[in-house]
Amino acid sequence: MAYVINDDCISCGACQPECPVDAISEGDGKFVIDAEKCIDCGSCAAVCPVSAPNAE
Ligand code: SF4
Ligand code: SF4
Repeated sequence: MAYVINDDCISCGACQPECPVDAISEGDGKFVIDAEKCIDCGSCAAVCPVSAPNAE
């Protein structure tokens, strides 16, 4: 299980500093979550203005 950022991401960067395990980085056109690091805390989803991170 891991959160995944969908294509609604506007690359605002708000989620990156909220992640306790530093799993979020800027990708090509959107931010991405490292599924190996994500602990499903939901902090990224809580701050995202467009609800792009979702639990898979
Ligand atoms: Fe990081 Fe939590 Fe979002 Fe996973 S759910 S990417 S651990 S902030
Ligand atoms: Fe993308 Fe939402 Fe993260 Fe902003 S907070 S970079 S829109 S996933």
